[in-house]
Amino acid sequence: MSQPEQKLLLENHPHLQLVFGDGSVAQVGELARELGATKALLVTDPGIVVAGHSARVNDLLESAGIGVTVFDRSKENPTTACVDDCVSMARDAGIDFIVGLGGGSSMDTAKGCNFILTNGGEMKDYWGIGKASEPMLPSIMIPTTAGTGSECQSFALISDNATHQKMACGDPKAMAKVAILDPELTLSQPPRVTACTGIDAIAHAVETAVTRKRNETSLKYSRAAFQMMLENFGRVLESPDDLEARGQMLLGAAYAGTAIEHSMLGAAHSAANPLTAHFDVIHGQAVGMMLPHVVRFNAADETIADGYAALVKDTAVASSNGTLSAEALAQAMEVLLDSANLPRDFTAFGVDAVQLDVLSKEAAQQWTASFNPRDITAADFAGLYQKAFAS
Ligand SMILES: [Zn+2]
Repeated sequence: MSQPEQKLLLENHPHLQLVFGDGSVAQVGELARELGATKALLVTDPGIVVAGHSARVNDLLESAGIGVTVFDRSKENPTTACVDDCVSMARDAGIDFIVGLGGGSSMDTAKGCNFILTNGGEMKDYWGIGKASEPMLPSIMIPTTAGTGSECQSFALISDNATHQKMACGDPKAMAKVAILDPELTLSQPPRVTACTGIDAIAHAVETAVTRKRNETSLKYSRAAFQMMLENFGRVLESPDDLEARGQMLLGAAYAGTAIEHSMLGAAHSAANPLTAHFDVIHGQAVGMMLPHVVRFNAADETIADGYAALVKDTAVASSNGTLSAEALAQAMEVLLDSANLPRDFTAFGVDAVQLDVLSKEAAQQWTASFNPRDITAADFAGLYQKAFAS
């Protein structure tokens, strides 16, 4: 990576130290000790335990003289019950530091736990931005997928157990002190996880490039992230052990995550969440399926079409298509889905047309829909879903 990119990230995250490089996870003990950790809660999931990463980080922390309690029950699309479970373990252990290790689910569970442990109440009390009044525990986030970019965000995405509503709970105090980006840790991802998380991260770059909240800072991250991941997604699919490409995907996902922190997301995420809630469609798959349709819908507004064109400028999309346009972007996303063997229509997932009304209403109520650059109604979402039935 080039120096200016590294500086860009650090300049805009004055409180987040970014540690990037092969084998950099070895620094976790020392970094945690510098931040005053004496008893750490390591939040992870069963897959990361099997991969051996949890034991390694545990040993590294203990070697630095830090006591460790492991919570390894983080679940995909973490719920309030999962967070409560984690909080109860953290309380019993009397911890003073949190390490989140894994995909977005582990990191979100770690952040969710931090909210409740330090500020009390329930997750829904923190739905929105800046609702925590008390200081929170310092934390280190270590992603093992190149996906959510949660390590660069102050948001925990937690679903309400009863309503399935995905709540984005954000507060600057929840931001990690350090994010360790070690490409070697992402080698253990199964191919399907590489595909789904990669598409999700690329979708983050695309959606953040045009949201209502976008600004100069977020645009820089969106563009850098898009370019890096577009060039390297095919490489990690073809050569899973290509560490350089893994590193670029990991850094790209972190950049896209940083863009989300500034600009939020859009309608592809709004449309995806009900598919995940009702039909268990994996997040990245659901977002990837909806994104080309959302790009075409948004591009009906010329200003937004220009935004997409600016995103693909100087990338392989522009050179392969010969045009700078939203349509070129939508088609490029479809090519990426095909190359990753991710279906582009609903038939593989048992999505029932009878449910269209419920899905569309829920999509329109998602918080992310309010940041979509074009006004979007339940009827519009129904139209987008119809397209995904037919693709
Ligand atoms: Zn996403």
